[in-house]
Amino acid sequence: MSDNTASVSTADKSKPYIPLAGGANDGWSTEKEATATCFCGAVQVVFPTESPGLVDTFVCNCTDCRKITASMFASNFIVLDSHLTHVRGELKAFAQSKTIASGNTMTDFFCPTCGTLMYRRSSGFPDMSVMRIGTVDDFNLHETKLFPRREVFTKDRVGWLKGIEGAKQVEAGGSGNRKIETKSTQEKL
Ligand SMILES: [Zn+2]
Ligand SMILES: [Zn+2]
Repeated sequence: MSDNTASVSTADKSKPYIPLAGGANDGWSTEKEATATCFCGAVQVVFPTESPGLVDTFVCNCTDCRKITASMFASNFIVLDSHLTHVRGELKAFAQSKTIASGNTMTDFFCPTCGTLMYRRSSGFPDMSVMRIGTVDDFNLHETKLFPRREVFTKDRVGWLKGIEGAKQVEAGGSGNRKIETKSTQEKL
């Protein structure tokens, strides 16, 4: 049950903070795992909150991310598929390679009912998924274990945002993960 007097800024960071956000009310978070749920609640997955299952965290300002999020940037984290569990809900897929400089195909997996993008997968990195921090039910994780380690495509950041204090600033792409950077430093994720 969520405490109506709590807010993101006042929540006790030493325990999970799961506010009312969308249709589901069964999100949870432990030391090593947590849930991510779409807005309507139909789709839920469990992901790792620690290495090695949790690979990286980053914010992306690339031109694709504006359209994908219908906002100005995407806040992402990368997990190994071997550590990702589907709890419920079917996902719809949309794949394209037109905007990806490396020629890789990026596939978006989203809830067919409410449209929430749960994760993206690149044909260049077949064993991992790029998830969205905003889908994570424990909002404290957004500011703790999932704090974006770096901010990429700062060259495309909207003029009225100033960037994330404490995140490494990177002009173009690359997620900060060595395996991904070696393959393509310009990849839009
Ligand atoms: Zn949904
Ligand atoms: Zn992007």
